[in-house]
Amino acid sequence: MTHLINLTITKALQKLKSGEITATELTQAYLDRIEKFGADLNCYITVTPERALADAAASDARYAAGNPLPLDGIPIGMKDLFATRGIRTTAASKMLENFIPEYESTVSQKFIDSGAVLLGKTNLDEFAMGTTSKTSFFGAPINPWQIEKNLTPGGSSGGTTSAVASGLAIGGTGTDTGGSIRFPAAITGLVGMKPTYGLCSRWGCVAFASSLDTPGPIARTVDDAALLLSAMAGHDEKDSTSAAANFYVKDELPIIELKKLRIGLIKEFDSVEISNDMKRLFDARISDLKSAGAEIVTVSIPNILDALAAYYIIAPAEASSNLARYDGMRYGLRVEGSDLIDTYKKTRAAGFGEEVKRRMVVGTAVLSSESYEVYFMQAARVRRLIADAFDRAFEQCDLIVCPSSAGTALPLDSDLTPLEYYALDLFTVAQNLAGIPACSVPCGLAENKLPLGMQVVGQKFDDMRVLQLAKHIEKFAGLDNKPTKILGK
Ligand code: GLN
Repeated sequence: MTHLINLTITKALQKLKSGEITATELTQAYLDRIEKFGADLNCYITVTPERALADAAASDARYAAGNPLPLDGIPIGMKDLFATRGIRTTAASKMLENFIPEYESTVSQKFIDSGAVLLGKTNLDEFAMGTTSKTSFFGAPINPWQIEKNLTPGGSSGGTTSAVASGLAIGGTGTDTGGSIRFPAAITGLVGMKPTYGLCSRWGCVAFASSLDTPGPIARTVDDAALLLSAMAGHDEKDSTSAAANFYVKDELPIIELKKLRIGLIKEFDSVEISNDMKRLFDARISDLKSAGAEIVTVSIPNILDALAAYYIIAPAEASSNLARYDGMRYGLRVEGSDLIDTYKKTRAAGFGEEVKRRMVVGTAVLSSESYEVYFMQAARVRRLIADAFDRAFEQCDLIVCPSSAGTALPLDSDLTPLEYYALDLFTVAQNLAGIPACSVPCGLAENKLPLGMQVVGQKFDDMRVLQLAKHIEKFAGLDNKPTKILGK
């Protein structure tokens, strides 16, 4: 039933509404495909077939009664960072290997309220710390593009990107603290949207760095991403940083006229080394936009190349505080020691993987009284400078575009140093520091036939126009990202 797998969310909803297909058929097609390829791709930590079929049956009943919900019958993968009531939620950590929440995250609840079908919980880097998903306690997911090459689907939301690109979910959720939606989406030929900070509630989402964590959608098309975001967004009184804002698209994004747009290129990124493919595809899309009437201008974000350093101080600092709760007392793993302190030590030593421990050490160090002024406060200042510079840049242009990564997906067994992995986030972290929306959209295929993406970046709460411009770029790029083609079956 490959035709069902290749449907976009937009198309699937049309067919569900017209009665041409049922939610149960669609869900079963996905479950069959998970059964066939799930183990090889390792993109799910937990598959929930019974729940999926029950959700689908309820959707079919609503279609039959003529009152379907906005995403009724749409089978999605949920990053295993969102707490799901009664369903194991691990954050890909041994620490939470057997954690079954008694509550539902706001984002996953909103999907329930929209009629979406839960296929399962997708793999990720442990506590969302990483760029490859290799730090998962459950082993790395695989990139379905050229599967024989064992490439990474990116991280930290790599389970979702692997699943959506291979047709093991029609769409899904990610979280983006420093690029974890956009980078994995870019190298798997998908659309990944990091909304404005505060547009989607963080409540019930396992915390990494609270001032940066941003839930968002991952999908095969920009319209699909907009539909998923419509379900996820909205004010939530349970999250004190939730914005009094919403996002809503009915069937598809309204077309924005390119002739009226002024698009900015970030001058400082010119000096960054990127692959020839990335340069060629990025330039090609810029000239497409230009030929279609958009005005291209250059803007300056003077401190943007310091964003990485600031991010890798602020994110570990917040993480060390957020992860202090995993001490064997309330959640997850507990390894008994000789006394209380020894129990803490043994539990944390056994429960956290190497990368998480590295961040705990860095985080506590930069927050220590000797380092606070020199590291943490400096990073906070750089963050403010970057946010202010974006504000000024948006006085000269409507939207900004930049690459999503320097190159295509890396082999899973590439052993870069931690700092080299951190450097992969160069094009994505500044947007998190500034809290502004950014969408990675495919810009074409590199010579090695692997996909690359570019970002559209906007002002706070300009999420709609970010997606509208991304939709033009998607069309210019014309990438064929049908799952059955990508996986070759
Ligand atoms: N790669 C970045 C990190 O490891 C971003 C992770 C994320 O966005 N969750 O911190």
